[in-house]
Amino acid sequence: MASPTDLRTDDPVEVLRRVFGYDAFRGFQQEVIEHVVAGGDALVLMPTGGGKSLCYQIPALVRPGVAVVISPLIALMQDQVDALTAVGVRAGFLNSTQDPEARRRVEAAFVAGEIDLLYLAPEALGTRAAQALLDRGQIALFAIDEAHCVSQWGHDFRPDYLALSMLHERWPQVPRIALTATATSATRDEIATRLRLTDARHFVASFDRPNIQYRIVPKREPRKQLLSLLRDEHPGDAGIVYCLSRASVEKTAEFLTANGIPALPYHAGLDAATRARNQQRFLREDGLVMVATIAFGMGIDKPDVRFVAHLDLPKSVEGYYQETGRAGRDGLPSTAWLAYGLQDVVQQRKMIETSEGDLAHRRNLAAHLDAMLALCETVRCRRSQLLDYFGERSTTGCGNCDTCLNPPESWDGTVAAQKLLSTVFRLDRERNQRFGAGHCIDILLGRATDKVTQHGHDSLTVFGIGGELREAEWRGVVRQLLAEGLLAVEGDYGTLALTDASAEVLGRRRTVMMRREPERVATGRSSKPR
Ligand code: ADP
Ligand code: ZN
Repeated sequence: MASPTDLRTDDPVEVLRRVFGYDAFRGFQQEVIEHVVAGGDALVLMPTGGGKSLCYQIPALVRPGVAVVISPLIALMQDQVDALTAVGVRAGFLNSTQDPEARRRVEAAFVAGEIDLLYLAPEALGTRAAQALLDRGQIALFAIDEAHCVSQWGHDFRPDYLALSMLHERWPQVPRIALTATATSATRDEIATRLRLTDARHFVASFDRPNIQYRIVPKREPRKQLLSLLRDEHPGDAGIVYCLSRASVEKTAEFLTANGIPALPYHAGLDAATRARNQQRFLREDGLVMVATIAFGMGIDKPDVRFVAHLDLPKSVEGYYQETGRAGRDGLPSTAWLAYGLQDVVQQRKMIETSEGDLAHRRNLAAHLDAMLALCETVRCRRSQLLDYFGERSTTGCGNCDTCLNPPESWDGTVAAQKLLSTVFRLDRERNQRFGAGHCIDILLGRATDKVTQHGHDSLTVFGIGGELREAEWRGVVRQLLAEGLLAVEGDYGTLALTDASAEVLGRRRTVMMRREPERVATGRSSKPR
């Protein structure tokens, strides 16, 4: 039996006030806590910054025994333990980075019930030694943090999480609480199934983050566009810039630094010490910009991240939501900015086509990408579209996204689409050739480039029939057709190809409404002096 300490009490509200120094619970924290304290299982879906930690930390103090928290965030365990120690809660962690002496101390404290929370890496649970250890102590509850890591479709999949289904078999009396900021009902169901949380109560918070302003802009010169954003709207602010590749992370960090904005790189290609150092600096210093691949960010609790910028298209709406959700945990106005262009679509489609895995897997990736593209090309409120995706109905505009602040015109792009698709159709006969979007647009604009004349494409009937649109507009047409599945890209060179649905447009059975990009986006916010 754990020796009761003066922190322990039966009343969650009192723990909230005395230990954590907060006046009131947020959202459904109290319901979750009471449910778990009473021994029930729970599945908690709350956006980043919503306050998930208290949902298991307070039951850990109220229930007898030690709460075992399973977390994949090994690099952050020390921070989590330090934060708890600072408010007088006794906590320890066990992971592979620890020296044997420290490990023995924590194990002994667990068995003696001298700590309230034990953080454990998921891979440890698979070992006999860890299981035998847990049998020797009294377990108050299991908290499974970042529970979406069990989802095989997700981008954070951790194979070790699959083994967590044994918690229920081995310790059937111990309540379990799984927590995540990933919101779709498909992921939720997958978590419940894989973790055998069949009787768990589901607590699903609203995923709206009203203080985040969502903006998606056409990609032209992404680094320069980023620089203007940071200079005009976020001077001196801390933020995260996501890039797809390590090389692009490095280049962007150098570019920002050279332009007077202190930036650090973070990607899996850097050694562990550099990564840890950059992460610590980002957390502790003010006004640093972290330029990173998606390897960075999970579990990062920095309240004043003022912007999250994407220089490349995220692979899914889930990923986009999680990454942008790292902005504005403190509730103050923040920006989620994404630059997106034709090349992103071509590149990602190609990556899916050449990805390992079976057809079902590739289809799943493609469906996720399509949802992301739909968000980029929508003429609706971005927030409404985002919340819809997560199953929350919202009909009115939010007033705090680019489409609400500066509504894009939509225009009937059917004729333009037909012109483009006809061009692709004509080029399609020369199957062995590689004609990407640029070449098609050259033909439509009547540009007799070397490649055009070399292939005799200046004598095609479609040559020069597209003068009503500018090149950038044609690129927008291609992008939107790709986004809607009315056009496809094939092969290594981004060759455009027709799809089954293309025929509907060519046969005038389908109209295509398109988004006309506003010239400049008014943000409704003036830049603050600093
Ligand atoms: P999540 O894990 O859901 O991203 P956290 O548990 O890290 O969120 O909480 C986010 C922030 O909100 C933390 O700084 C936390 O201390 C604070 N917080 C949580 N619950 C409350 C509350 N009831 N009242 C005030 N602040 C809270
Ligand atoms: Zn809106």
